[in-house]
Amino acid sequence: MELTNIGTIRDLFARHEFSFTKSLGQNFLINPSVCPKIAELGLEGADEPSEVCAIEIGTGVGVLTRELAKRYKKVVAVEIDEKLKPILEETLADFNNVEVIFADVMETDLAAVIAEKLDGAETVVCANLPYYITSPVIMRVLESRLPVRSMTVMVQKEAADRLCAPTGSRECGAVSYAVRYYSVPKLMFKVGRGSFMPSPNVDSAVVRMEIGQRNELSAEDEKLLFRLIRSGFSQRRKQLTNPLSGELHKSKEELSALFAELGIKTTARAEELTLDDYIRLARRL
Ligand code: SAM
Repeated sequence: MELTNIGTIRDLFARHEFSFTKSLGQNFLINPSVCPKIAELGLEGADEPSEVCAIEIGTGVGVLTRELAKRYKKVVAVEIDEKLKPILEETLADFNNVEVIFADVMETDLAAVIAEKLDGAETVVCANLPYYITSPVIMRVLESRLPVRSMTVMVQKEAADRLCAPTGSRECGAVSYAVRYYSVPKLMFKVGRGSFMPSPNVDSAVVRMEIGQRNELSAEDEKLLFRLIRSGFSQRRKQLTNPLSGELHKSKEELSALFAELGIKTTARAEELTLDDYIRLARRL
């Protein structure tokens, strides 16, 4: 079954009376070279590739799911749109190592999925993410310290640049700090807008995050670290001492003195601090 063929997709849609829901970020991949590459990237560096399992977020008609099923021991996919159920029953019928959970990924306990459905095996996340929740999904996987080895995701090009931006640069956002804290991100390749059906207004890119176990901060300090970053970026045009003053109930003068002591510019805005600056600030506080 060639799920990147427009005729095949149209036929599936007609027989199952399916139509796209734009608000769910439903732009399905029709470029045949992309899904095999995403699936292969998840296996990079695996000690025993035949033992690795995958979690997919958002199946669409199952174009990536099938490529994952061919390569991984078991695949669990989470898809919010139950209208895709009869289509997936047809497109995934050849595979007995795939389970689709029809649920919102933001409300799915992925740690329990790994423990119970994948027997705690080495697991990776591979997905063409729905664009409207790119950062929340990535933050959820990273901050919950899911035992996954890597996350390979297709996102809008602009979001990919933000995920990979060095902290302390103009392009970064709060998510860039979480990505750098928990992983080593790399922009792997770009994917033009014409590779999707329907075609979105922007290009995309695939980012691979190699997840490491950082233990340099206690769980409590880690929470504080991300409180500082979120608070700073909630008012990114202002000097950082402004939002932090409200968040920490400390005077601006007290915070300026602290910044000076740590060698951080007292007038700096959220994006001007590196991850290391925030870590030192969290420690000192
Ligand atoms: N993997 C398919 C592909 O590459 O063609 C589909 C990718 S499409 C960009 C995103 C998919 O995520 C859609 O099937 C959409 O229904 C699903 N989705 C959207 N929001 C979701 C959510 N909160 N939880 C789980 N799936 C979601």
